[in-house]
Parts: sequence; structure tokens; C-alpha cells
Amino acid sequence: MLGGDPQVSGFEDPDEFGFETRAIRAGQPHDPYTGAVVTPISLATTFAQEAVGQPRHGYEYGRTGNPTRHAYQVCVASLEGARHGFAFASGLAASDALLRVLRPGDSLLLGDDAYGGTFRLIDKVFGNAGVGLAAVDLTAPDKIRDAWTPSTRMVWLETPTNPLLTVFDIEAICAVTHELGGIVVVDNTFATPYLQQPLALGADAVLHSATKYLGGHSDVVGGFVATDDDELADHLVFTQNAVGAVPSPFDCYLALRGTKTLGVRMDRHGENAHAVVELLEEHPAVRSVLYPGRPDHLGHDIACRQMSGFGGMVSFRLHGGRAAAEQVAASTKVFTLAESLGAVESLIEHPGAMTHASVAGSALEVPDDLVRLSVGLETESDLLDDLGAALDTAPSAAN
Ligand SMILES: *Cc1c(COP(=O)(O)O)cnc(C)c1O
Repeated sequence: MLGGDPQVSGFEDPDEFGFETRAIRAGQPHDPYTGAVVTPISLATTFAQEAVGQPRHGYEYGRTGNPTRHAYQVCVASLEGARHGFAFASGLAASDALLRVLRPGDSLLLGDDAYGGTFRLIDKVFGNAGVGLAAVDLTAPDKIRDAWTPSTRMVWLETPTNPLLTVFDIEAICAVTHELGGIVVVDNTFATPYLQQPLALGADAVLHSATKYLGGHSDVVGGFVATDDDELADHLVFTQNAVGAVPSPFDCYLALRGTKTLGVRMDRHGENAHAVVELLEEHPAVRSVLYPGRPDHLGHDIACRQMSGFGGMVSFRLHGGRAAAEQVAASTKVFTLAESLGAVESLIEHPGAMTHASVAGSALEVPDDLVRLSVGLETESDLLDDLGAALDTAPSAAN
């Protein structure tokens, strides 16, 4: 671990342990004085020094490094199979830190379906700073060659994507991009390291909105970047300190607490999503169901290869168009009408008007008959009854 947060092993040889064990123990030594099994929330903003310029345990100042943040960083880096991990104040702050490797005149390729805020950050903020952007259909990795220019430095993708659940072949995209001399960033927010490990498939950096599945309880906003690339790690530790978009110790504690149960939560998210998909497939108001676990999903074979499960996000389109989508999204009771995703409670939303309003009119525009579900951990029959009743209010194909 580089930089402000010191090299303290939380758990001897974490790599020899399984995912769930590392989620609970990596970076989280028992307190040497009390034996406390939970990493404390270290609120100190400054740390006493042994002599001038000699911090005792590597910590100097709270923006630069913090023990709670360090524990969290070691843990999530271990889960992604990375040597370096960096926590940020939000997913977009993490994205911003990564994008700062680009200089005015550089450009990047973005998968043509992505979180609206990521598009806005690249298009509006980095666009103003002279960074170019082209959206590419990454389901055909050779299109990267067609879109590549001498100024292209990076390919940025989500898989599965938000909100269309498109699956991109990480290994194939990395092969083409590396051949062209660029780096690949994979936003792993939807899959989480429990279901998909992009670094092992060749990605140069993995990004998370920890606000979603890592935190998992809708009570903390956070971001994370994991990488094995030492140069990128140098850039990130510098940016974390120089720009300062760091999470608070309490935020780190919450994200770390959530991460401990990531495996069991993802298993149940997937089971409940599977049941929801079966209901949607049967319902006459539903035009199509977008879920990588469906055998007829265009990316199903790739998903089977690069994911160990299909996750808890499900999108679907309705025969009744935008009016029906808004009607269904406003009619559920167990599924809460709200933005965000990845937490214990089920959420429903209309991406066109909510999470993805910022891509309207762009190459990333989403269909207006689309509804997105974040399937939570409630009782399966409650979820099915609720969604079924809401769908019954929408017109069927025959109408
Ligand atoms: C929410 C989200 C982000 C942005 O993260 P914040 O924590 O909201 O800043 C980035 N990527 C994906 C896929 C997301 O869902």
C-alpha cells in the first residue's frame, strides 16, 4: 500500500484465505490493547510524531492517511485481488481522481451505456478541461480500433451497464486496448468483486461507487479505486492527498461494515432477482426483460465466463411506453421509488427521468419505457406480490 496510509498488514497472508474471510478480516487486526474485534473509528486529524518528520505509525494528517480508511482500503483491495486500494468521498470523486491522469488534448472512449453522472463528469467537467470523449458500442470490441485516435488514452466501461444491463467482454476489450497502448477502467459497481474481478481479466483499474453494494445499506456515500499498476497507484495517492476528496472515518467504518456481508448479500440479491425476472417474463405488460442471467440475453455467454453470478439489478421495458413505466414505478409499495441501488431495500425507478436524466439527447440516451429495479433482500413473495400488482396497472401487449 502506497503513500499516506501506511503499510500495516491487517491479517497475515490474506491471499491464502477465501473471499468471505478476507471481507471480514483483511486489514482489520484485533486491537492490540483491548482485543476489540472491530476496527475503531479513528477521528484524530493529526498524529504525534517521534521526531521532526517522523510519524510513529506512518500517519501524519487526516486527509493524507487515516487508520479506519486504511483498514477499509486494505480490505477492498484484497477483495479485488489488487495490491493498491484508494477510498474517496463518492464514486464520482473516485472517477474524478482516475480521470485526472488525462491531460488537455487527450481523449477517452466510453461504453455507450453508463451511469449518467459518469457521462456528465467526463462530458461537462473534463470536456471543459480539454479532454475528448467518444461513446462506443463495446459489445463489438473491434469498434475500439475504429474509434481510436492518436489522442486516445483510455477506455472506460461498466459491465453490466447502468441501466441497460449490457455485458461487455472485459478480456477482449483489454486485449484490443492494450494493443493500442491505452488503459482500461472497469466500473465494477453492479457486479461487485464477489461476482466479477476485472483486474484478473486484464483491467488496469477497477472503480466502485461504494454507495451501492459495498456499503449496501443506503447510509453512506463513497467511492473506491483498486489497481495493480504502481504508476496509477502513485497518481491516485497523490490525487487523494492533493485534491482531498477523502471519505470521513465514519464513512470508512460504515463502508467496511457493509463489505463484511457482501458475499451473503449478493447471493440473496441474485436469488431474489432471479424470482423477479421469472415474474417479469410471464407478465403481459412487459415487452422485454434485461438481465444477464437470461439465456437469451445477448451477453449471457460472456457473463457466464466473467461473472460468478448475475447480481441484483434488473431492468425491463413496458408495452405501454413512458406513461406505463412511470405508472408502474409509482405504484409499488415494497419497492421504494428512489434513485440509487445495491442496498438491502428494493428500489424502483424510471432512469429516463431520474438517474439518467443527464444523458438525454446524447449517445447514451435510454429508452423512456424502461424501468430499473434494484432487487433487495426482503421476503421473496412480498417482492413478487408487490411488483405483480403494480404491473397489473399497466396495459398489456394486446391493448
Ligand atoms: C452511483 C454510480 C456511480 C457514482 O457513484 P456516487 O457514489 O453516486 O458518486 C458510478 N457508477 C455507477 C455504475 C453507479 O451506479
